[in-house]
Amino acid sequence: MIHKENNYSLKSLNTFGIDAKTKHYIAFDQMDDIFEVDKLLSELTDKQRLVLGGGSNILFTKDFEGVVVQSKIDFIQKISETEERVVVEVGSGMVWDDFVSYCVNNNWGGTENLSAIPGVIGAAPVQNIGAYGVEAKDVIRSVKYWDFAKKQVVEIDNESCHFGYRDSIFKNELKGKTIVLSVLFDLSKKDHKLNLSYGALKDLNESDVDLRTIREKVVEIRDSKLPDPVKIGNGGSFFKNPILEKDFTDQLLQEFPEMVTYKVSDTKVKVAAGWLIEQAGWKGYSENHVGVHDKQSLVLVNHGGAKGEEIVSLSQKIINDIYDKFKITLHPEVIFI
Ligand SMILES: Cc1cc2nc3c(=O)[nH]c(=O)nc-3n(C[C@H](O)[C@H](O)[C@H](O)COP(=O)(O)OP(=O)(O)OC[C@H]3O[C@@H](n4cnc5c(N)ncnc54)[C@H](O)[C@@H]3O)c2cc1C
Repeated sequence: MIHKENNYSLKSLNTFGIDAKTKHYIAFDQMDDIFEVDKLLSELTDKQRLVLGGGSNILFTKDFEGVVVQSKIDFIQKISETEERVVVEVGSGMVWDDFVSYCVNNNWGGTENLSAIPGVIGAAPVQNIGAYGVEAKDVIRSVKYWDFAKKQVVEIDNESCHFGYRDSIFKNELKGKTIVLSVLFDLSKKDHKLNLSYGALKDLNESDVDLRTIREKVVEIRDSKLPDPVKIGNGGSFFKNPILEKDFTDQLLQEFPEMVTYKVSDTKVKVAAGWLIEQAGWKGYSENHVGVHDKQSLVLVNHGGAKGEEIVSLSQKIINDIYDKFKITLHPEVIFI
């Protein structure tokens, strides 16, 4: 089914809760609807197009003078299965965490560390979502998308997605040219490769944990650290953790021995952006309708009634200040529209 609206409010469709409007809105819930959706799009004179998922990594800075398209395709289908592994195809409109829950309930391993990440399946390959040492790329087998230029469904394998840190081909060569329709995941049925190397998961004992224990632990940690967008508008981590030259961070570590860093390679180091922001004194900062969360300095929040520009302005102040203090440039993870 296709659902069309004009002058449509996006307030409930973005987790920052920004009250922006879109000139046109089209949602659809079947794979085959895409042919009709494509036709509708080509009939519109407003050519600007935004594919929206759960709106959990998007900041609307003003009204959108184009068409917002949203997939509500929601299904899980087994494609193949052996004793050891199962391949499933999942519709791009399914809520990501509902899928993780389904996997854990079936004892299918691979997604459990990614529990409770907001958003839908279609955004997972775009963003290469990640948490607790696991990324979507570790479980994605292929992605089916509609190519707006070729006007056909295309399937590409994991390698062709060019996954990187919160990055993929969909944010680069294919930016704005596709809508993900479904994603195929390759999951383990036994001898699960558990990843307990990050954060509080280290406290778990590998010999007596199962997928459910990991999921419950991840949900518990996330609930205690991250603000619930239903209660307070936010887009999760606002900035990416910068990846820098090791020589440069070695020098900084002499001045700031407590700086939180993770080895990326022999020459590259990832610095915790949250540590930089907290160290610079921004944690809990508040101005007008916006602020920095008091428990998690990487999260910018809408205290209620904020305009997107206010959040942009606060983020710029933080970027400038971090550069002045550490000579490090932070880049937003959240996408400005
Ligand atoms: C409280 C909170 C915690 C978070 N924690 C994490 C975390 O731990 N790890 C992490 O990686 N992220 C995290 N995020 C960020 C966010 O959840 C992810 O980036 C998520 O994948 C966004 O999904 P979405 O469906 O909301 O996408 P949206 O925000 O709607 O869109 C994100 C991007 O994906 C594109 N897109 C969406 N759907 C499609 C589609 N079907 N086809 C083509 N393009 C599409 C959009 O155009 C946009 O470019 C968090 C966010 C919040 C609010």
